[in-house]
Formats: sequence, structure tokens, C-alpha cells
Amino acid sequence: MKSTHIEHIGIAVANLDDAIRYWENVMGLKCYAIEEVADQKVKTAFFQVGDVKIELLESTDPEGPIGKFVEKKGSGVHHIAFAVENVDRALQEAAEKGVQLIDQKSRKGAEGLNIGFLHPKSTLGVLTEFCSK
Ligand code: ZN
Repeated sequence: MKSTHIEHIGIAVANLDDAIRYWENVMGLKCYAIEEVADQKVKTAFFQVGDVKIELLESTDPEGPIGKFVEKKGSGVHHIAFAVENVDRALQEAAEKGVQLIDQKSRKGAEGLNIGFLHPKSTLGVLTEFCSK
């Protein structure tokens, strides 16, 4: 498995509108897409910074993964997404190296990407996402 670049950085927020305002007014970026991902119980907002995207995540359900994260830790960096050629193969290779997976197989994420997560217990505390087109 070799990642070609960081695709996006996922940031959990308590309130998407407030967060968009911050990223637009203070960081001078333009939100180019807002998308709800029902599967993950989140509403996302995207910004492009050079080759990397910022993905803001607001929970649509307190019991969802982002809802629990914000409840425990507050807003903040949630995950880093690495672009790989094939998510299923990258997950399998990580598992063969003893890494605990959250997703055994890829699934559809925001922007129609194939995504899969590694467990932060196995990645030195960094919730790691693989993604591919
Ligand atoms: Zn992500």
C-alpha cells in the first residue's frame, strides 16, 4: 500500500454553519459543497486548500460517530484521509500487518469516493481513512 497524497482532513464540528463562517471569514476559503451522508449520520462541508480538502463534519444524530466524538472531545481534527489506488486492497494489506480495521470492506463516502477506516488504536491515535475515486 502506498498513498499518493492526503486527500482531505476531516474536522468534527458542533455547528456546521458557524464552522463554515469561520473557514470562509477567517481562513478566506470558499465552501464548494455541502452533502449529507446518511450512512455516517453526518452533514459535510468541503473546502479546497491547494491539493488538499478540508471536510467539516456535523453530526445529524447524537448517537452517530461524530456525535459521540464531539460529545467526548468537542470540535477538532477527527481524521486524516489518504488517497490510495484501491481501498479494499489497502485495507487488506493493513490488516495483514496487524492493524485493526473499522471497515473490513470499502463503502461509499462523501463525494462518491470509496472509503475505509483504520482503527485509531492501531494507528498511534490517528483515525486514518483510505479513499479512492
Ligand atoms: Zn473523511
